[in-house]
Amino acid sequence: MVTSTQSSFPEGPDANLAIRVAKLWPHRKHESNWLKGLFCALGGHRWRSLNLAELVPGKKIQHCFWCSKVRIDGIIYRV
Ligand SMILES: [Zn+2]
Repeated sequence: MVTSTQSSFPEGPDANLAIRVAKLWPHRKHESNWLKGLFCALGGHRWRSLNLAELVPGKKIQHCFWCSKVRIDGIIYRV
């Protein structure tokens, strides 16, 4: 399994932003099946973009549809 510098809590230049935007995704499928959970565990996140360009200009923000991770400018935050 590939490990990385991603830690188990938000950490990085946009950690606070990650916590904020995580709340903007209303109904993520945390209860989804184990297969999707496995994909996420292996880094196969299902990234979905919300239109946050007006709220957070200049940042590329994506939420994983299957778990609680947020990706900002390519850095993954678990929030
Ligand atoms: Zn995920």
